[in-house]
Amino acid sequence: MLTIGCHLSSSRGYLAMGKTAVSIGANTFQFFTRNPRGGNARALDESDVEAYLAYAKEQGIETILAHAPYTLNACSADPGIRDFAVRTMSDDLKRLSLTPGNCYNFHPGSHVGQGVETGIAQIAEMLNSILTPDLETTVLLETMSGKGSEIGRTFRELAEILDRVELSDKMGICLDTCHVWDGGYDIAGHLDQVLDEFDRVIGLDRLKAVHLNDSRNPLGSRKDRHARIGEGQIGLEALLRVVRHPALKSLPFYLESPNELDGYAREIRLIRQNALL
Ligand code: FE
Ligand code: FE
Ligand code: ZN
Repeated sequence: MLTIGCHLSSSRGYLAMGKTAVSIGANTFQFFTRNPRGGNARALDESDVEAYLAYAKEQGIETILAHAPYTLNACSADPGIRDFAVRTMSDDLKRLSLTPGNCYNFHPGSHVGQGVETGIAQIAEMLNSILTPDLETTVLLETMSGKGSEIGRTFRELAEILDRVELSDKMGICLDTCHVWDGGYDIAGHLDQVLDEFDRVIGLDRLKAVHLNDSRNPLGSRKDRHARIGEGQIGLEALLRVVRHPALKSLPFYLESPNELDGYAREIRLIRQNALL
């Protein structure tokens, strides 16, 4: 069965997210580990985590995806911001050890004029200082649109980060369809070629999750403005080909389209109905 969900608010805890997911026809979900604009995480309620784990098992909720705050920038020119990134990711991974076997996605970072090489080195340095052999969460680099000085627009940049991480078996990639499109990979016209290139440069075995979004802007625009499924420049048919592709169809898909819950429920229904054609 297709594994699909959407981004949910984590403000009411894990069990509430699980119940919301099930209520909209999802069998997974994504959530922010803390306020997306940064700051401290709420204390974890261990009884909520336990109740969630039992509920997830009963309902067949698959691998869930935690998303790091946007303010996490491992390759800022400001050492204080780099230090915040290390502390935030370490704390997030410690909290996620209560829900083992899931994934943690983060934006590689923006080098803010330091240059791609320095940025990649700093991102790998952060990961090498945090990852441990006993980690039971897979840490995912998200493919980025390349707006500003973002690192991770090209598959090559992501591969170079992975190459420098010592415990790289703890790492994977989350492919965001809006971002790769905005970054110049034509998943609407040439999906097979894009995935071939991904396989050649990174390896498809590294791909652990897909953010399924349409894009407001044309191919290569480097904008990163998500659109609802079928209402953007990628289009419904192309996004359905992503969901049905043999190399992708067993991955978890997460909607990050601009929607309220009822909109997500409609999109999940639409994609489930068309996933097997
Ligand atoms: Fe993201
Ligand atoms: Fe995304
Ligand atoms: Zn985005």
